[in-house]
Amino acid sequence: MNLSVFVSLITLLVMRSDGKPSKDDSIITNEDKAKEYLKEVNGRMEVEYRKQSEAWWGYSTDMNNRTLEAQTKAMEAFDEFQKKQAIETKRYNWTNFDEYNRRQFDRLALIGTSALSEKDSKTFTRVTTEMETIYSSAKICVADKCDLELDPDLEKLMAESKDYDKLLEAWVKWRDASGKLMRKNYIKYYHLGNKAAKLNKVLNREFKTLDDIWLYSWETDDIREQTAKQLDQMLPFYQKIHAFVRMRLEKAFPDKMPKDRTIPAHLLGNMWAQQWGNIMNTVPGVDPFPSLAPIDVTNEMKAQKYTAKRMFELSEQFFVDLGFEKMTQKFWEKSVIEKHKDNRSMVCHASAWDFYTQDDFRIKQCTDVDMEDLIIIHHEMGHIEYFMQYRAQPAVYRDGANPGFHEAIGDLIALSVATPKHLNKIGLLRMDDSIDMKKINIKFQLKMALDKLAFLPFGFIVDKWRWDVFSGNVSKDHLNRHWWQLRGQYQGVSPPVTRSEDDFDPGAKYHIPTSVEYIRYFAAHILQFQFHKALCGFGQKGVPLHECDIDGDKEAGNKLKYVCHQNT
Ligand SMILES: [Zn+2]
Repeated sequence: MNLSVFVSLITLLVMRSDGKPSKDDSIITNEDKAKEYLKEVNGRMEVEYRKQSEAWWGYSTDMNNRTLEAQTKAMEAFDEFQKKQAIETKRYNWTNFDEYNRRQFDRLALIGTSALSEKDSKTFTRVTTEMETIYSSAKICVADKCDLELDPDLEKLMAESKDYDKLLEAWVKWRDASGKLMRKNYIKYYHLGNKAAKLNKVLNREFKTLDDIWLYSWETDDIREQTAKQLDQMLPFYQKIHAFVRMRLEKAFPDKMPKDRTIPAHLLGNMWAQQWGNIMNTVPGVDPFPSLAPIDVTNEMKAQKYTAKRMFELSEQFFVDLGFEKMTQKFWEKSVIEKHKDNRSMVCHASAWDFYTQDDFRIKQCTDVDMEDLIIIHHEMGHIEYFMQYRAQPAVYRDGANPGFHEAIGDLIALSVATPKHLNKIGLLRMDDSIDMKKINIKFQLKMALDKLAFLPFGFIVDKWRWDVFSGNVSKDHLNRHWWQLRGQYQGVSPPVTRSEDDFDPGAKYHIPTSVEYIRYFAAHILQFQFHKALCGFGQKGVPLHECDIDGDKEAGNKLKYVCHQNT
């Protein structure tokens, strides 16, 4: 560092021109004054969040050079704002303030990667944007078809194909076109992320790695250990479902299964082997009652000519019947719920957005008419309802109680929606009186286990891998090896072809290049069942949990609203 610049910066911060510390620049401990500051800075924060979100939205829904430049500029401006704001914030000593004020100061002082120098910030923005662009614009050829995109082409192929070689080709080529191309950027990214972490300080608390910053919002020091322990408790159940699926796959592909009893990662009905429900339709013997009505109601939705709009309205109705709010007029005007039909390309990964006003909330989703997307819509709309519940809070508190809560709300609603009884009620699952409900419920429970239980080890390793890499416990020369070591150890899943350090398979999963912490999903997969169980204790008391449908239960709805209404 250039020493003279450093000295003059310090001088600027703590001295007046006469060289003596001024009264104004000394540490402020007056709480009334602090409250005024909080009110004012929260107002500014809302404006800055909004500007940054608009620019990011602009790029995500229409990826081109113009929107990219606008997004980059907005990120730079936001970093600048955060740096200035942190300096002002640190003029206060908030140790003895009441909790409500103190926690706001904690949150303001933590500015994450905005703490980087201008030069490093620019590099960080460039590498993260490049990674997201690689991921979102990758196209590949499989068999004789070209220009295939992840959403919907490859996701559909992985979900529906029974052809071993075709699945393998899609699996390998997707990784060649995504993760492999971002390996160098990723190494730069996490080194800069760690550098930023060390520049952050909240009172006396210091941060060493980028994931230290992510995990701060869990407000507990041992979240890594807690998560590992939780997984340990669930693994015996996972091992059972793994053994069952492996047995069926051995019958379906007798010469292809590895001797070490792992499952090749491309055979589980999903690009990342993260949820396995789709193999009920593709691997013989997984569905115990294939002649009964399918639990996946995609065909029925298509037969009834469902549209994206109708799927969103169905989801909205469920929330409204629980006593939650309708989507705002702006939501319907501004959301993008289908992939553009012209040649504009967009980031298709579904997401929910808060624009920090009282009525501007949006979803971006390349909706396909199928059951998986119907569930995802409920997931995203759960975020929107949560945003609306806490919109009166100051900007720094407009966030979930913890990241896991935010991810669990929509999922927990979908647990009711996906029950055979509910699907029957809304006309998507035909069941006459002669149908064997016991068998239908077993099918439903198996589908749940394949989607939700099978997810848990994956939900853990995406971040376990990052904790190990960011902390330096794994060298940058062993990034891919470590990924597969964890996949084998926790998931019992192996690569179908030899992998090397030329590959970068973690990067083929959206949340790695886009820097989204992942144990939130692990936690949500546990929390949603705990919430569901609690909410089923009102109007649905006595109903077995797997049959519980809280549709229209205002008492349950009120409890859930109360939870969402609390500030973070
Ligand atoms: Zn989510």
